[in-house]
Amino acid sequence: MEKLEQYRNETEVMNVPEIIKWALNEFGTKKIALASAFGPESQYILSEMVIINEKPRIFTIDTGRLFQETYNVIQETISKYNVAIEVHLPDSREVADMTSKFGPNLFYDSVENRKLCCKVRKVQTLNRVLSTVDAWMSGLRRGQSETRDNVHRIEWDISHKIYKINPMINWSEEQVWAKIKEHNIPYNRLADYGYRSIGCTPCTRAIGRFEDMRAGRWWWESEDYKECGIHGNLDYQI
Ligand code: SF4
Repeated sequence: MEKLEQYRNETEVMNVPEIIKWALNEFGTKKIALASAFGPESQYILSEMVIINEKPRIFTIDTGRLFQETYNVIQETISKYNVAIEVHLPDSREVADMTSKFGPNLFYDSVENRKLCCKVRKVQTLNRVLSTVDAWMSGLRRGQSETRDNVHRIEWDISHKIYKINPMINWSEEQVWAKIKEHNIPYNRLADYGYRSIGCTPCTRAIGRFEDMRAGRWWWESEDYKECGIHGNLDYQI
């Protein structure tokens, strides 16, 4: 936390490859990891990371409810970049207890149940991974939702007490896709069918071109609740 201002000043004018290189040097390859759900932003970061370092830490959380297309892009990425992806699963006992008590589709019943599912499948899994690093990197962008408007490129994650680096925080969706096309980077093919923010299968749907980026996530809930807790590091509501 004490270096937050220093880090923000040091990285203020850096581009994405420069900030990735800076972060890997500052924290060491084993102590910083990219969190990826294989969206276009984290795919671009990954493509730059593997140029800078052959064995970066890249992890994903397999909630057990992902789309086949998400598994496809994971596989394609491993093949193209010859990179290891850490796949972390939720605690099977906790998933079994939760689904036995509330049913497999509990998330549709209430915000409370949806948050419980995200907590068991995603947040607690994330907590276990982040206990092994001093910093994490993500593809977060301000344009993805109003709840991300005030996020900086470098944050102090108060929940995990580690730094969080968001190299693409100022990027537009168009800029991201230009990089994906320019470098022929593998992407989730659901994007071709109107899926602009992709999470678990039962909680994601396609949206119109002019809708809010996150409108297809937990679409049955009020806008105020639309975070899963993964990136709620400033106040971390779950
Ligand atoms: Fe559960 Fe849906 Fe959250 Fe996935 S996005 S963890 S299925 S509530």
